[in-house]
Amino acid sequence: MSIRLLTSTVVNRIAAGEVIERPASAVKELVENSLDAGATRIDVIIREGGRTLISVTDDGAGMTADELALAVQRHATSKLPDDDLTRIHTLGFRGEALPSIAAVSRLTITSRPRNTDTAWSIAIEGGQEPTLQPAAHSPGTCVEVRDLFFATPARLKFLKAVSTETTHATEAVTRLAMAHPHVAFSLGDGVKTKLKLPAVTSEREDARLSRLGAILGREFQDSSVAVEAEREDVRLSGHIGLPTLNRRNSSMQFLFVNGRPVRDRLLYGTVRAAYHGLIASDRHAMVAVFLDVPTDDLDVNVHPMKTEVRFRDAALVRGLVVGALKRALADAGFRTATTASNTALDAMRPGMSSGMSPPTYPGGSASIAHAGRHFPAFNEHLARTGMAEAPRPFDFPASMADPVASQGSPAEGPGAHEEPGLELPLGTARAQVHLTYIVAQSADGIVIVDQHAAHERLVYERITQALDKGGVSRQGLLIPEVVDLDGPAAERILARADELAALGLLIEPFGEGAVVVREVPALLGIVDAQGLVRDLADDLGEMEEALALKDQLNHVCSTMACHGSVRAGRPLNVAEMNALLREMERTPHSGQCGHGRPTYVELKLGDIERLFGRR
Ligand code: ADP
Ligand code: MG
Repeated sequence: MSIRLLTSTVVNRIAAGEVIERPASAVKELVENSLDAGATRIDVIIREGGRTLISVTDDGAGMTADELALAVQRHATSKLPDDDLTRIHTLGFRGEALPSIAAVSRLTITSRPRNTDTAWSIAIEGGQEPTLQPAAHSPGTCVEVRDLFFATPARLKFLKAVSTETTHATEAVTRLAMAHPHVAFSLGDGVKTKLKLPAVTSEREDARLSRLGAILGREFQDSSVAVEAEREDVRLSGHIGLPTLNRRNSSMQFLFVNGRPVRDRLLYGTVRAAYHGLIASDRHAMVAVFLDVPTDDLDVNVHPMKTEVRFRDAALVRGLVVGALKRALADAGFRTATTASNTALDAMRPGMSSGMSPPTYPGGSASIAHAGRHFPAFNEHLARTGMAEAPRPFDFPASMADPVASQGSPAEGPGAHEEPGLELPLGTARAQVHLTYIVAQSADGIVIVDQHAAHERLVYERITQALDKGGVSRQGLLIPEVVDLDGPAAERILARADELAALGLLIEPFGEGAVVVREVPALLGIVDAQGLVRDLADDLGEMEEALALKDQLNHVCSTMACHGSVRAGRPLNVAEMNALLREMERTPHSGQCGHGRPTYVELKLGDIERLFGRR
């Protein structure tokens, strides 16, 4: 056996194995270098998923010929002037990226420092001797990586389909772009530009939101709330989606520490905790959270790819994030994502998808025949009844003109015409339809509330609040109800009797396989105790045994709400409906049910007018 030092080419290829996992990693390293060089615009070109060409051009500080020669050497960096790893203010610091890329590809860097008029170009193939020569170039740097991994065929084999690699590379660019809104970015294949992000010039928070909107979509911009918090020099800011704006996986959760996109399990868990009870357990919120942490409280030197960090005080950071996110969501109150309303509008817009211009009806009035063209069933009905032949304008019988008045509902009577609810966000209740939906009129639109989902949410919030204060108040049943269950079900529910009592439901054993219900949660109103106990017994079979009911409250509350007085299918009078609307306005998080579905949608008058071609 003879021990020898490895050649620098081999050492660099080994390093490349860690630093450059796939084309997207090279893209990330190069864009980071451009940002570190103070670029204000960065143009990225990717061909065949980055396999044949990655090119990154910037207008940053540039490099002299000497610097170019050094930059491709291993462990050469300009970013640790005093060798201090506790004061890293740049994205790079390891001096590894360029030599690693050079070792596994054909690399050319052309650069011209600002305020000089000479450019130089350096070329390396597979880590061999570099060649340096004068070139022509505008101030800044252009790095071209061709045939990535040609020198390491094993890695080449692991590359995925072009589209997959392109997606990863695009993500690498957009992640960095989110944290640097003042820098312009473009991404294309050299022929066509796929992504164009102009530099945002406005103030910090605005800039960030418009950049986030440009990347994550208009929906995020409209349906997110700002977060802001600070504790012991750690500053948090960002924008987080309303719970109704949710996704199947966590790929839309973006976390940045000191401008660096990171993947941090701790932070993912934290986001989950903050949305707990607001979003179904298999759905994920959309968030972009930015942390500013003093550099000596942070270790970024965890992994060669620099996508993980360690916090000196992880508990503090976690607490800060959960607190800030929860507060922001509570402040958002009954707001719900605009998605719901947009979906509703799209569904109604006759024969159109979003983005198209609204229909214009001749003369501004719709005829039956015209409407029928878009509603086949309606058309059929017209044909059957022979009405299609004789289109004529709608005319209402006088009694239908004001449905509320004609029904003699409680809204009528003295004071009703002052319409106190109109100015309130959810408006004043006008009707209940299909025994399920409350239709309300707001100052500038129509609000449709899913009474059951809304009630479920209110029950949940009331129970959590009551639990914080020591327990849910109960209401005794005049005649205790005996519920017959099978043996195991009775055992299951009786085993949780203490916890259920804290949630307002008092049950006791009642002989073999049966329980007696003595008290129910007062906030449910009139309860179908039989159904509630049966369902809870069933649910308990599916719920996590190790977890306290308090931690599975979502589940318990939805079951309770199902058997409470405002379930779907129950008629409500106007007073009850208005009471529900007012309580929603007062209650945090009431814009969505526990599964992240909206509890109401609002259609703005403007949108409705457009729907009818009035605008
Ligand atoms: P690191 O970024 O960790 O310092 P790299 O290998 O990525 O290591 O880059 C080495 C050095 O090359 C950098 O420290 C920087 O001085 C210089 N450099 C790389 N890319 C650029 C660029 N686009 N503009 C100006 N200088 C650059
Ligand atoms: Mg670098």
